[in-house]
Amino acid sequence: MHPRQTKKPAATASAAAPDEQRLTASDNSRRRLLQNAAMLGGAAILTACGQQADAPAVHTGKQSWHWKMVTTWPRDLPGVGSGAQRLVDHIREMSNGRLDIKLYGSGELVPAFEVFDTVSSGTAEMGHGAAYYWKGKIPASQFFGSVPFGMTAGETTSWLYYGGGLALWNRIYQPHHVRAFPAGNTGVQMGGWYNRPINTAADLHGLKIRIPGLGGEVMRRLGANVINIPGSEIFTALSTGVIDATEWIGPWNDLTFGLHQAADYYYYPGWQEPGSTLECLINQQAWNSLPADLQAIVRIACQSITLDIHAEYTSRNQQALQTLVHEHGVQLRQFPDQVLAELRTTSAQVLEEISHSDADTAEIYASYMQFLRSVRDWTAKSEQVYLQIR
Ligand code: CA
Repeated sequence: MHPRQTKKPAATASAAAPDEQRLTASDNSRRRLLQNAAMLGGAAILTACGQQADAPAVHTGKQSWHWKMVTTWPRDLPGVGSGAQRLVDHIREMSNGRLDIKLYGSGELVPAFEVFDTVSSGTAEMGHGAAYYWKGKIPASQFFGSVPFGMTAGETTSWLYYGGGLALWNRIYQPHHVRAFPAGNTGVQMGGWYNRPINTAADLHGLKIRIPGLGGEVMRRLGANVINIPGSEIFTALSTGVIDATEWIGPWNDLTFGLHQAADYYYYPGWQEPGSTLECLINQQAWNSLPADLQAIVRIACQSITLDIHAEYTSRNQQALQTLVHEHGVQLRQFPDQVLAELRTTSAQVLEEISHSDADTAEIYASYMQFLRSVRDWTAKSEQVYLQIR
């Protein structure tokens, strides 16, 4: 039985700064004093065990917090789902059980695409997903998931932590009483599975393909018939001809779904998702209720799981790719240069148009593109040239 239902938080503006990395101990102490004062005034609802609803949040070090985390992934889905479970396991272990978070897979408490609203309302204190799922509500969120022909995992993490990205991310979530931390990265994905070869961009005309987000919009403009279906339905749709092609994640997850049994050609690279960031969502008032040491544990656990998930994807993907090619005879193909050039040009047009959605999106687009232009020069002279000579 779950310990408690957390009441919907009052719709008060957050006093927390967008980037906890920048908070000092005195900032945290001052904020807790402010929180305590607010709670004494009866304006807030506490979530800590054993506290009276109108008691100040004086932390003795013996209190415990019991939270719910909803996710956009099926429970234990390799990589994204198993990584989310490891995140809450790490937090429980590092906090000696003081912050105990129960994970709910997609559909167990709420459907996948209701995760953001569930954290926003405080029905669940925490969520795990990917920011581009919320594009209908917040167009700028797409820049915090993955951007076609955008930054790699390492470059994106640099932008988020040392290029102002995380502060912008939290600014667009702040009106929804949600704060975000990067919490995983899949690395470069694969281009996907096709049941016919793609030799020129004209071959995309009329192609029925499952590809979500910005990549889907790019494909649509190049004449493809883009169909959005959840991951769990991809295999059946591809094997029965409902779709002609699909992208999913990469060799590890694609092998698990058996997609090699449903299409002949496996294309690379994943131009549409060159480094997809996963996110940990936290209800702002629940976050405010935590003492500074538990906030630090959550913050560092999210950094840790970002490294952990990316490392596991790299390890499992290279193993699975060998299995697909050598045990299942999968035909690997790189997209032709002409096709990639069309995709790149169209991607730039789509991004530029989205930047006009609202002022936040314009600012985030400018920040993202400025960092990309700058880091591309460094990458070209470091990792890129090194990988060419290795
Ligand atoms: Ca994908």
